[in-house]
Amino acid sequence: MELFYSIQGEGKHTGKAAFFIRLAGCDVGCHWCDVKESWNKSKHPLKHIKELVQEVKKSGAPIVIITGGEPTMYPLEKLTQALKKEGLLVHLETSGAYTITGTFDWICVSPKKRKLPLKESLQKADELKVVIYNKDDFNWAENNALDVKENCALFLQPEWSKANSVMHWITGYIKEKPKWVVSLQTHKYLNIP
Ligand code: SF4
Repeated sequence: MELFYSIQGEGKHTGKAAFFIRLAGCDVGCHWCDVKESWNKSKHPLKHIKELVQEVKKSGAPIVIITGGEPTMYPLEKLTQALKKEGLLVHLETSGAYTITGTFDWICVSPKKRKLPLKESLQKADELKVVIYNKDDFNWAENNALDVKENCALFLQPEWSKANSVMHWITGYIKEKPKWVVSLQTHKYLNIP
C-alpha cells in the first residue's frame, strides 16, 4: 500500500529511524482503525520484492518494519529473506490473527478483539502492544499476556481518539502493575508520517 522512511513512533523501538513497508489487505475490522484505506488490497498495485528491497536500500534505513493492513495474511519468507540478505533488521507489526511466516528480528503483536490472536503468534511476540479503548481492555491485555514468552515486553497504548480520556486509567494501572509500560503514538503527537 505504501512505502516510507520515517521514525518508529510506538512501542519498544520508539524513536528509531525505520523504513515502513505497509502491505495492503486486512479483514480484522477494528472500528477505530487509522488505516482503513489499507483494508481493500485490490485498490493497491502489486510490487515486486526486488523493487521493495531497492526502495529500502536507497533510503539507508537500518530497520525495516513490515506492517499493514494485516501483513501475516501473506507468506513473508521471500520478502524477509531478501531484506535480511541486505543486512537489514526486519521487524513485524501484526494483530497475530494469522500464522507468522518469515524471519524477523522483532515481532510486535497487537491483538484485536474482532479477530483473536493465535496462541502461536503470541508465543512468538517480542512485544505485546495492547490498545486501550475502554476499561475492559485491561482484562483483555492481561489475558493475552498469559500466552506470551517470559521476556516479552508489555505495552499499553491509548487508542488515539480516546487518548485524553483513557490516559489516566493507563497511568493508574501501570503504577499498580509495573510489568506494563506505556506506549504512545509519538509520530501522531510529532506530526510525522
Ligand atoms: Fe486496522 Fe490493524 Fe485493526 Fe486491521 S488489524 S483493522 S489494519 S487496526
